[in-house]
This record gives sequence, structure tokens and C-alpha cells, in this order.
Amino acid sequence: MIPSVLPTYNRAPLTFVKGEGSWLTEADGRRFLDLGAGIAVNSLGHAHPDLVQALTDQAGALWHTSNLYHIPAQQELADALVEHTFADTVFFTNSGTEACELAVKMARKYWHDQGQDRTTILTFSGSFHGRSAAGIAAAGSEKMTKGFGPLLPGFKSLPWGDHDALTAAAADPSVGAILIEPVQGEGGIRPLPDQCLKGLRDLCDEHGLLLILDEVQCGVGRTGRLFAHEWAGVEPDIMMVAKGIGGGFPLGAVLATQKAASAMTAGSHGSTYGGNPLACAVGAKVMEIIATPEFLAEVNRKAGLLRQKLEGLVAAHPDVFTGVRGSGLMLGLMCKAPNTDIVTAGYGAGILTVPAADNVIRLLPALTITDVDIAEAVSRLDAAAAQVAHDG
Ligand code: PLP
Repeated sequence: MIPSVLPTYNRAPLTFVKGEGSWLTEADGRRFLDLGAGIAVNSLGHAHPDLVQALTDQAGALWHTSNLYHIPAQQELADALVEHTFADTVFFTNSGTEACELAVKMARKYWHDQGQDRTTILTFSGSFHGRSAAGIAAAGSEKMTKGFGPLLPGFKSLPWGDHDALTAAAADPSVGAILIEPVQGEGGIRPLPDQCLKGLRDLCDEHGLLLILDEVQCGVGRTGRLFAHEWAGVEPDIMMVAKGIGGGFPLGAVLATQKAASAMTAGSHGSTYGGNPLACAVGAKVMEIIATPEFLAEVNRKAGLLRQKLEGLVAAHPDVFTGVRGSGLMLGLMCKAPNTDIVTAGYGAGILTVPAADNVIRLLPALTITDVDIAEAVSRLDAAAAQVAHDG
């Protein structure tokens, strides 16, 4: 008989009842060091006191009104995002997938209103943009799309790193935009080199294309800059944000320049919940904390510490790991042993990590993880690796 919860996930046999900082606790008191952070969501750890305060203050005042009316917390968060980024305007969603939907619609509408039939969006192998009809069509992998056809047309997936294919495709007059993650998350923590992101921007400028960045997983301080593309010194036209911006409360956003958003007039898009007071009160507090040079400097310092320790871990377990890659506190352990075996051994050692494609284990800790917890995490990963090597 089908379970009452639709069985689309293979869940680990773990049930948490409490979270604090980088730690999760089961009902029997067993504690786990959380290096998954709800898949890059709990950017400030579990139960950050300032976020609890912001949420409960808002909950005591007003939960929901809809976008038929002005929402002060939404305005505050939009202003903060505009102040700290390339963007001129923001639309709030409840998830990364919904941000993808709008990014695609915005690009299509832009070209429609320009009177040009440029409906194709270039995407890349290994990418992930959510599980909606547009999201799976954009990513294009067989794993996500099989059985769900007919797929939404208008996407052309290119092999990751194939410059010739990209240059040729960008010159096609039906192409209107390029959509890419600056650091692929689900695809196995694959960072796009800075010079490639610069090259993509140049290519977009050359052909008049819109550059859409999916920073749902790599954004909001995760790589040590507020947004990952800042490392390359280039700016997108449209950007998708979610996960870390809500710190655990469902919240996403599409950020855009005035030009890219110019066709999105009243009635062209909407959302009942998007930009809800509860979500935006939390999001505004997350931005207030993360979007400071001091906070981001700490992320970079801790990222260096974690990476250095992980290099040591890899060297100590050459039969289990082959290397470390990633950016900031978005790191991937490349594995020789099956990544899921190591993740499972981690449960025994009291540490939570997240598998990704390309036989990689994702480490996406809270950006507030302490030095002590970093040391503890690596020691627990060491125990998990020793267990896998022993079981062989
Ligand atoms: N885009 C990227 C890069 C993601 O990593 C994800 C989720 O993992 C999504 C989009 C979809 O976001 P959500 O699961 O919030 O709908």
C-alpha cells in the first residue's frame, strides 16, 4: 500500500525533534552535527535567536494579507536586496523552483515585448533548477525528465565546459538567454571558473542575450561573497535566489535589472504567498546579518579552515576520497568509494552530509558554524571514512 506521504524520497532512518546552531537532536537525545543545513537552507544554523525573534514578532502581529496590499517586510527585504546587488527590482516566491518559473517567463516576455522570437534558453548538463515543468525541462537530464513528457519546449542543454558548442549556440537567432548556476550544487559542487562566467557575460553582451544566474544554492553568503557571481566581477540580468535567504522559512526571489524586468507589468505574474509577511520578516533579518563585510569575512576564514582540514582528510583516506572542490562553505568531497556509503557511515558517526551527482558528498554547513564544530565535523568524517574503508 502506498504510504500516506508520497514516497518520492528515500529517507534516512533519522527523525529530528530539535535544532540549535549546527546541531540536530533526535527524540532519544542523540546529537548530529549538521553539515547539510537542510540542503543549504539553514544559513544561520538552527533556531538562530534573531530569526526566532523576527518570526515570532511578525507572527504575533500579522501572518498574511496577500499581494493585493502593501507588505512592509516585503518592501524592506526588496530594498535590502536592491541595495546590496546588481538588481533594480525583486519578485518574491516561496521556493527556488518558483523563482525558476518566473526567470524563464521574464526572459520570454522580454523578447516578446521586443518583438523578437527569441524563446530558446541555453542551459548546461548537470544543472538543477527545480522540479516544475520548466525546471526539469531546463535541466534536461533523463533522470529528471523521463516519463514526464511532453517537456516544456524552449531549452537547449549544452555539455558543461564545451566552449565551442556554447559559442555556436549563442549565435543562433532563436536564443534569448543563458541560464546557469555559478556553482552547480546537485550536479556535484562544480564551480564555474571566474573566467568562464566573464566569458559568458561577454557572449551575452555580444549577442544581446539575457544572463540568468541560478544562485538558489550558491547564493546568500554561501561562497563567501553575498552572491557567487561577485567573485567573477560580472553582473547578471536576472538572478534566482531561495534556500539561504529564508534561513529555513520558505522564501525565494527573482532579482532583475530594470531592463530585464521591463515587460513584467501589473497582471503579468503573481503569487498568493510570495513575499508573505512571515517569510519576509525572516528574510530581512537574514540579509541584515549576512550582508555585512564582517560576516562574509568570517565565512571566508572558516571556509579556508574547513578546506584545509578536508585536504588532510582526503590525504588520510586515499581509498575513500579523491579530492575537495567548491567555493567558500559550499564544498564537495569527491569520492572513490560510493558517496552514499560514506553519507550512511556518517549517520553512524553522528554527522549529516548530502550526496550529489558525480559521486560527490556535499558539505553545506551553516555559515555560522564554529571553529570547534569544524574540527569536530572533520573528526566525525574521519570516523565515517575509516568505517567505509574497513567495510571495504
Ligand atoms: N536551483 C538550484 C540551483 C537548486 O539547488 C534548487 C534546489 O535544490 C532549486 C533551483 C529548486 O529550489 P526549491 O527546491 O526551493 O524549489
